[in-house]
Parts: sequence; C-alpha cells; structure tokens
Amino acid sequence: MAATELFDGGCDCRFVRYRLTRAPLFVHCCHCRWCQRETGSAFVLNALIETECVELLHGAPEMVMTPSNSGKGQNIARCPHCRIALWSHYPGAGPKFAFVRVGTLDDPDRFPPDIHIFTMSKQPWVVLPEGVPVVREYYDRETYWPQESLARRDAVLAKSSR
Ligand SMILES: [Zn+2]
Ligand SMILES: [Zn+2]
Repeated sequence: MAATELFDGGCDCRFVRYRLTRAPLFVHCCHCRWCQRETGSAFVLNALIETECVELLHGAPEMVMTPSNSGKGQNIARCPHCRIALWSHYPGAGPKFAFVRVGTLDDPDRFPPDIHIFTMSKQPWVVLPEGVPVVREYYDRETYWPQESLARRDAVLAKSSR
C-alpha cells in the first residue's frame, strides 16, 4: 500500500469529515465488554494511527471523556451534532496516537483486523478467521507490529520529546 494513499471518513450527518493521510499502523479488533457496550455490537475495529495523520476536512469533533477499563478514561472524538464516535485517545498510547473507528471510513473494507484482542469476552457466535493473531487479552507490540509501524511510532515519540 502506497504511503500517499488517502482515506476519508466522517460521521452520519457529514458535519465532521476527516482524512487519514497514511495507512494505519495496526488495526485492532477488540472483543472486550467495554467495546461491546460502546458500539452496541460484538466488537470494535480501531485503526491505530499517528494523530498528526488524521486531517480534518470539515467540522471539528467534540472530545468526550469516557470511563474505560483502565480506570483512566478514554477521550472519544464525537461529532458535536450527530454524536457519532470517530476516534479515541487512550492514556496508554497518549494524544499523539488516535484509535480511528474503521466503520466511519468511507471504505471501511480497506482495513481488516491485524489482530483480535480481548477474545476472552468474544461473543460465542463470532467465528475468527484463520491466519490473524488472536490474544485473550492485550499483546506485546514488538511481537506483532510490522517493523515499519514500530519505526513510525518511534519517530512520533522522538518528535514529541524534543
Ligand atoms: Zn455528525
Ligand atoms: Zn475493547
């Protein structure tokens, strides 16, 4: 996938429109109870990407601090009008990284999961495909992320400490 490809997305009412200026670092399919509750579904698809690669094309999301499993909360970017959740910032990864809801992209089929996490609470009818890593809880980034994504992460962290 070329790094120059653009991926647009937005909310239901089209007030907030955004563009990913690069492909994501890694895509989580999270089966935890929190994500099930927040989506009203069986899992969430989150594309992890540098926040600087999420460009606003129209509107601006409102940040809503929401309780999370860690107890530290997650900041969810929602359309101020239709309230659709577009992405989150978690305290672990920090504000430099965004967890973009893949379902809000115009072409969500582009980013299938790179890993299934928290499958300890996977809904029993969900059948996982062969060939994609599955972990009961969380995972070790160094083990699963591609080298290129690890390098991109390091680059962002190096920049922010300057
Ligand atoms: Zn909206
Ligand atoms: Zn989750």
